[in-house]
Amino acid sequence: MKAEYLRKLLFPLEIKEMLPLHDKYRNIVDTKIRETEAILSSDKENCSVPSCSYAGCSYSSTYSEAASHTDTSYKDSARKLLIIGPCSADNEESVIEYLNRLRPIQEQVKSKLLIIPRLYTNKPRTTGDGYKGMLHQPDPSSETDFYNGIIATRRLHIRAVTETGFACADEMLYPDNYEYLDDLIAYVAVGARSVENQQHRLTASALNAPVGMKNPTSGDFSVMLNAIHAAQNPHTFMYRGWEIKSSGNKFAHAILRGYTNKHGEPQPNYHYEDLLRLADMYVNNESYLNPSAIIDVNHANSGKKPFEQPHIVMDIINSMKYNSTIRKLVKGFMVESYLVDGCQSVGGSTYGQSITDPCLGWDKTVRLISDIAENI
Ligand code: PEP
Ligand code: MN
Repeated sequence: MKAEYLRKLLFPLEIKEMLPLHDKYRNIVDTKIRETEAILSSDKENCSVPSCSYAGCSYSSTYSEAASHTDTSYKDSARKLLIIGPCSADNEESVIEYLNRLRPIQEQVKSKLLIIPRLYTNKPRTTGDGYKGMLHQPDPSSETDFYNGIIATRRLHIRAVTETGFACADEMLYPDNYEYLDDLIAYVAVGARSVENQQHRLTASALNAPVGMKNPTSGDFSVMLNAIHAAQNPHTFMYRGWEIKSSGNKFAHAILRGYTNKHGEPQPNYHYEDLLRLADMYVNNESYLNPSAIIDVNHANSGKKPFEQPHIVMDIINSMKYNSTIRKLVKGFMVESYLVDGCQSVGGSTYGQSITDPCLGWDKTVRLISDIAENI
């Protein structure tokens, strides 16, 4: 290898010993995963969630109030998912504040929406340049520091669960790193630049959380569907120095995020015809389990114009109302939102404003969530 070996990093077991998730919180993550699975497997005659017998929550301490988030029946398959939060979790305090503000809103809309906050701790970059997330840089203005990045990302996900009662979504940018956070995460996305990669697909087949496969930046639905096929089936493969056998992730599903054409221009893929086409492609191959799509309404779907997100969501809701096939297919939305509208450059001083993709600010976020809950 033509590289300097700088230092040995912590193994997943070591960081889990250093920063354990207390047993009394484990049910929170499990429950969020089961609720997400129930939504993804809804609209089927037989719900594929084996046990629909959630018995309620018995947590106390700082968590007891937030635990009521989970006090809903798995059987409530009419609900939809809302995966919402900043493009990157760049700052522990502002992200926890964002989650704390979301808590009462989740409570208000719990009969309609299950909120899984985006807590993205590693970011793919188109050219490799730029801020690559808390894992690389726990302090966005300082040098890369993976040792402390591993600690910072685990601490943030633990605070999310124990202080706010949310189990969050993260992107699986580096498959080897999943075990650092596998006891904390309720939803995993494989990004547009990773979805064609075999190690991502095979690792996705071993995850305990549902995994969303994004369409690639080229927009080809078949790449995404191939990734879903791979993730839903068992594989034997190499992982962290082991030969391992996965059992398949039957909740692997599509995320539509728009695409880029040959002129480098963003193109949407949330329209009525796009959704019907995906539904058709699922139907034409019956081997898919739980055919589902989440629509990411930022990225190439909005042309990274975050204030377009509300009208895109409403457009999709109209399609869902008009056509029951689309209603069954679309299980929810992904929205980029933070405390403050827009974005700033790395090192900018606005607390709660994105340093990667531009986001919808807090007031518009509150309005959007309530509009979705009213109209869905
Ligand atoms: C993101 O979710 O912030 C992201 C980078 O997504 P994509 O992989 O769709 O570009
Ligand atoms: Mn983004």
